[in-house]
Amino acid sequence: MVRGAAAVDQKFRRQAMVRDQLRARGIQDEAVLAAMGRVKRHEFVEEALQAQAYSDNALPIGYGQTISQPFVVARMSSLLQVRPGMRVLEIGTGSGYQAAVLAEMGAEVFSVERIKSLYLAALKRLNAMRYFRVKLKLASGTLGWPEEAPFDRILVTAGGKALSPTLLDQLDEEGVMLSPLEVSGAGQRLFRVQCKGGRVWKQDVGGAHFVRLVQDNT
Ligand code: SAH
Repeated sequence: MVRGAAAVDQKFRRQAMVRDQLRARGIQDEAVLAAMGRVKRHEFVEEALQAQAYSDNALPIGYGQTISQPFVVARMSSLLQVRPGMRVLEIGTGSGYQAAVLAEMGAEVFSVERIKSLYLAALKRLNAMRYFRVKLKLASGTLGWPEEAPFDRILVTAGGKALSPTLLDQLDEEGVMLSPLEVSGAGQRLFRVQCKGGRVWKQDVGGAHFVRLVQDNT
């Protein structure tokens, strides 16, 4: 009984999140709104934080890392223009929440995480939740996932200093990449990147506040 009631509460909070934090703030992509209405965000945070899982905030997931604010996940997911069947590479699995949202949208997701405990927790969680369209890898994302390239979409969910040529090499000719980057004097900005005919097109799509992308020397 108590369990059932708690699940109803979480569903109610999730619907309120979609309405008040996403739709009301201009997220119009129905595929994103539907996916975020389905993914049980509270199962991506530790038990003590579950009551806050649908609040308008990023939340700690350990090791100094965070699950991004719902609005940020919605914005990234709609800017990415994902269609069912697309192959998407994510750098920075974290909790696995963003990967689950993309899988709910029909993407085949490849996600890389460098912290072993986060990788293992995300693997267990996504399997238990039956997100079989998400493949995870423990490695430095600075290398991408060359065996699975090219990708239709790449999203980097940690802030770097410069665009990674390694990742650009793994992007399909028609592909789109989202990458938060430090811009001197302007803080962290989110860039939408396309690579056509050998030229890189980089568009600043707004401010961002992601945790730091670690440059592993591998
Ligand atoms: N997308 C996540 C949140 C990202 S937090 C979610 O939905 O929960 C950023 C993550 O990027 C952290 O887990 C951090 O460990 C990871 N990260 C940082 N630098 C990385 C790198 N070089 N390679 C792979 N993962 C990295």
